[in-house]
Amino acid sequence: MAVERLEHLYPVQEAKALAVRLLKESVDGYKGYEHLVEPGTPLQGVAEETLLKVLERLASGEPLQYILGYEIFYGYRFNVAPGVLIPRPETEELVKLVVGEKSEGKPRILDICTGSGCIAWSLAAQLPQAEVYGCDISMDALSIAQSQDMGDAKVTFFECDILSPEALEKISRGCGEEKFDAVVSNPPYVCECEKSLMQKNVLDFEPSLALFVPDNDPLKFYSRIAELSGKLLKPGGSLYFEINERFGEETKKILQSRGFVDCRILQDLYGKDRMVCGITPKEL
Ligand code: GLN
Repeated sequence: MAVERLEHLYPVQEAKALAVRLLKESVDGYKGYEHLVEPGTPLQGVAEETLLKVLERLASGEPLQYILGYEIFYGYRFNVAPGVLIPRPETEELVKLVVGEKSEGKPRILDICTGSGCIAWSLAAQLPQAEVYGCDISMDALSIAQSQDMGDAKVTFFECDILSPEALEKISRGCGEEKFDAVVSNPPYVCECEKSLMQKNVLDFEPSLALFVPDNDPLKFYSRIAELSGKLLKPGGSLYFEINERFGEETKKILQSRGFVDCRILQDLYGKDRMVCGITPKEL
């Protein structure tokens, strides 16, 4: 029944996965396969009314992660609410890339457009020697980022509109003057013209501020962050971006035109161009 209620919004496989996840989260000891093998199996130990209410919210397009209040990312549990994007598996790959390349010494890392803080916190947890900072324009996002419970890991968050002329000053106020070993960012990158391709649960519920860029200037965050990173990074420091799959080459060109070297375009788990990174030359 749950699957039928969701079929108008999601492809049937995704509707099934959602229904099973909902049951797993709501029913103690629920084993995912029971209702796939025998859909009629009665549910035990669950308030049906509660479940139905959640199902109605799901059927209206509300993402399950907002209903539950969290999402698992890089093996950690992150609080999420409508003020932040729900962390995506593609972004885990960005974290993996940085963890793999910045595990030596005590790297200073800045995550720009941090949102829920999932990148910054995962890096801090994976690289205990690192000094990690995260900034965002949205106070709502910052309060969610600060609310994450990540044990001993530490991240310093601060407000910064990266496009504003004062961005550099705000960053040095937030993190001090010392330069960074890595800047990482998953900024807004979905074009307005791509809206028609998106699912209702994303369009109606996730924050547009975190998603959309104008069709006539889709790389505005990338140009600005590359410009600032030229000043923020140490020689030999790295800039890591998550990107819109349509703009791999253009983003790489932005980095090259700012003097970055060893620029690479990397693919995500679906084989799409999803990351671009580059290094500041040692002699800069
Ligand atoms: N990957 C996200 C999506 O497709 C977009 C993330 C972003 O704009 N930074 O919805």
